Amino acid sequence: MKNRDKALARLKETLETNGLRMTQQRIEVYLAVAASGCHPCVSEVHEMVRENLPTVSLDTVYRTLWKLSELGLVAPVSSSGDRVRFDAYMRRHHHFVCARCGAVYDFDSPSLDEIRIPEEAWSLGCVWNSHMELRGICLGCCNEGGGTEEGHAEG
Ligand SMILES: [Zn+2]
Ligand SMILES: [Zn+2]
Repeated sequence: MKNRDKALARLKETLETNGLRMTQQRIEVYLAVAASGCHPCVSEVHEMVRENLPTVSLDTVYRTLWKLSELGLVAPVSSSGDRVRFDAYMRRHHHFVCARCGAVYDFDSPSLDEIRIPEEAWSLGCVWNSHMELRGICLGCCNEGGGTEEGHAEG
């Protein structure tokens, strides 16, 4: 798998740059998020990692994810629930978050990319990046619910 090789190369390079070791845990956790192609939460990543590392604890996965996040390899994504999700797709993109099922969908938008970080935000800290998060009800949930409650969201 080409993507797997690319992900591994990226992980190796970033860990080396930061003087960190390429551990099996870091490999499995990063590949789990990268291969998922979506935005898994910590327990979902844990499930995936356990297939190859049966003894790994949820806490280890949790700490590894935040370490990878610090290194810029994954990004935490807020969801509608209390679960943090992680994204390995680091190219600039935006999210649609479903308030019902918690799913996070990616989308691209050149016009949203152009929005500048306001001065007020810089007074709070050092900004690394930004993205737009849209909230609503996804099409899957709309269809399941037997029709939309707030009209059509098309267009
Ligand atoms: Zn949904
Ligand atoms: Zn995403």
